[in-house]
Amino acid sequence: MSSEQTTMSGPVHLSLPSPPPDPVSGCRECLGLAVSRVNATSVGDCSKVSDANVALRAHLRSKHGGR
Ligand SMILES: [Zn+2]
Repeated sequence: MSSEQTTMSGPVHLSLPSPPPDPVSGCRECLGLAVSRVNATSVGDCSKVSDANVALRAHLRSKHGGR
């Protein structure tokens, strides 16, 4: 069994509190989310960038079983 911990320890990286998730190559959903994140970044829409990161992270968890 895994020893999962849900402690709320402080972030180590101060400049990047939540690192953006990486899309899985070859996955169209990942690609779509990554593209929308790039688009949002290019127009400086921070809330959309955050939305895309959240969506991509959730997708990675549910579809790819990873972080
Ligand atoms: Zn994917």
